[in-house]
Amino acid sequence: MLINCTELAVRELLPEVLEQYKRTYGQICTCQRCQEDIMALALNYLPPHYVATEKGYILTNVNLQQLGGRTAVLAQLCHAAQKVMENPRHDV
Ligand SMILES: [Zn+2]
Repeated sequence: MLINCTELAVRELLPEVLEQYKRTYGQICTCQRCQEDIMALALNYLPPHYVATEKGYILTNVNLQQLGGRTAVLAQLCHAAQKVMENPRHDV
């Protein structure tokens, strides 16, 4: 099984970013479409980091470091969230 650690990190940190965004800006659309748009945008800006594994894979701090650290992933996610919320790809 081939896993992109960056994707795991993005999936794991997304709820945190949505929560933070909501606290800062008051509202954010959390529909499936917007969440996937945010993840796609962030993933396009972050370097992919693939591992081959036979079992499931658990994201660790070491992996996060390889991706530039938790802060780097969070920063890209925040940036992506902002872009998607300014321009949601569905009717409000
Ligand atoms: Zn939405």
